[in-house]
Amino acid sequence: MREYKDYHKSIMVNEVLDYLITVEDGIYVDCTAGEGGHSKAIYEKCNGKARVISVDVDYEVLGIAEKRLKELSYKIDFFKAPYQEIDIVLAGLGVKKVNGFFMDLGVSTFQLKGVGRGFTFMKDEPLDMRMDLEADKTAHYVVNEYSEQELSKIIFEYGEEFRFSRKIAKRIVQARPLNTTFELVEAIKSAFPYSEIRKRKRHFATKTFQAIRIEVNGEFNNIKTALNKFGNYLEVGGRVVVLSFHSLEDKIIKTFFKNDERFNLLTKKPLIPSEEEIKNNPRARSTKLRAAEKK
Ligand code: SAM
Repeated sequence: MREYKDYHKSIMVNEVLDYLITVEDGIYVDCTAGEGGHSKAIYEKCNGKARVISVDVDYEVLGIAEKRLKELSYKIDFFKAPYQEIDIVLAGLGVKKVNGFFMDLGVSTFQLKGVGRGFTFMKDEPLDMRMDLEADKTAHYVVNEYSEQELSKIIFEYGEEFRFSRKIAKRIVQARPLNTTFELVEAIKSAFPYSEIRKRKRHFATKTFQAIRIEVNGEFNNIKTALNKFGNYLEVGGRVVVLSFHSLEDKIIKTFFKNDERFNLLTKKPLIPSEEEIKNNPRARSTKLRAAEKK
């Protein structure tokens, strides 16, 4: 693996720790280890007394975390697994009760910054976008095999690309076969009038890329499955803390905690990062933190 030092900047670390940690010698599961920033912070905040189980579905990213946290590698348990199957991980470890589950949804810096995984429209890469490199469905499949209606629906719903979703889907279908991210960017671009491209604060391909990534990885269903399983493992008073980056993710999380009788929602309004954090880390700008407690 190539040398990699430009680590992911972990978001809202203090707020996460404040909500997540209820006992120092507890068991905490970081369901999205990424580059290990939050896992390390959880371990340190508990003065090394907690057991931290750190899970990620992407073994390349997990490799980065393990290397970065070399000195803690015998203290933090790293596992390659999807969080929606957290019950299998915990059963394998013989863990029956947990004090806190943490999820940081979205994409890690390593995945974005060009490792040939197709998450970014800033580099020309094969259309992949799988978080789990062993999964079958790729962006190539979605872009080349889905019907125009299916694409349009995904881009509308998951991308929240309300006005242009149909046109983008049409242009993608017309441009087939599409093999690389730049080919996809060109197809998306052709759906927009120049004035719209100029008007937008963010790159015109952002929303469509996000939509395809969510579809490839089944992200929304995975979140619901995982939240439901957390309820079976949490100690009374144990917490779930989630950082989300998409309004639909936040809606799923809020609705889940409001409707599931096992939980009290601790954040009626989501917490957001401070202005200073956003200045230092613009990727934090759309983050929302929600926390809930097991009754
Ligand atoms: N908190 C991390 C840190 O401080 O470095 C960054 C986490 S990053 C934003 C999100 C991570 O979630 C990615 O590494 C991604 O591979 C992982 N991920 C996405 N879907 C997953 C799933 N279903 N199960 C487990 N991990 C997943």
